[in-house]
Amino acid sequence: MNCALITGASKGIGRAIALQLSRDHRLHILINYSSDLPAAEETLATITAEGGSAELLKFNVENKQEVDSVISNWQQEHPDGFIRVLVNNAGIAKDTLFMWMSEKNWDDVIGISLKGMFNVTQNVIRQMLKNKTGRIINMSSVSGLKGVAGQTNYSAAKAGIIGATKSLAQEVAKMNITVNAVAPGFIDTAMLKGVDMEKYMKSIPAGRIGQPEEVAHLVSFLASEKSSYITGEVIHINGGLYS
Ligand code: NAP
Repeated sequence: MNCALITGASKGIGRAIALQLSRDHRLHILINYSSDLPAAEETLATITAEGGSAELLKFNVENKQEVDSVISNWQQEHPDGFIRVLVNNAGIAKDTLFMWMSEKNWDDVIGISLKGMFNVTQNVIRQMLKNKTGRIINMSSVSGLKGVAGQTNYSAAKAGIIGATKSLAQEVAKMNITVNAVAPGFIDTAMLKGVDMEKYMKSIPAGRIGQPEEVAHLVSFLASEKSSYITGEVIHINGGLYS
């Protein structure tokens, strides 16, 4: 059974990716979430209503022990299950000017967005190496490339994702595993709640924010066989904001 694990798939970009991978690749979808069970159930219900196959996998990506125990329990229950596609999407933002940023805000954002990628990938990549195939797609951000005032923690995490993507891609390319990063600009999700879009709209050449589905189509391509010679790349999706 070929599977795709999408972290943070209860809502927003992760949910759109889960739906798109199910539609395009007929993979069994593992919907990871950390707290919002009703939202995760909605993702699950939409996939199954469309004739796809999926299940929920609750874990906090920040907690390595929890990640390892949930994924190995799942693997034991599904000995024929193979996570062929991993999308490290889970992430949070806790924006404040650096001067006022608490240590907790720094640690939380780095812990979920960057350490979370380490925790999940190190577990899942073992089977990919054994099977000599796989696709890993990491969610970065325009903030990790150009920096954004008030987001030193988030920008550090997202820049870290890019470095890790490039190094890991070189380690596993011979094993037919590709590792790429996607760097969205402003995408219409809960994460933009409270962001003054009036202020930023002028800086987006396309003149609008992006939709989660637009990011999902890009991830779906990177998850496909068609992208087999693309690895270690950062693909921008931002309406021209950073080009
Ligand atoms: P969102 O709507 O707030 O969704 C965040 C998702 O991450 C939720 O499914 C949430 O699960 C999950 N999550 C949070 N903490 C977690 C943890 N510790 N363990 C497991 N899952 C966790 O955000 P989004 O906008 O879709 O963002 C998705 C990714 O895209 C993030 O990495 C974000 O940094 C990146 N991104 C977003 C934008 C944008 O403009 N929206 C731009 C660039 C990059 P629960 O619902 O269970 O809490």
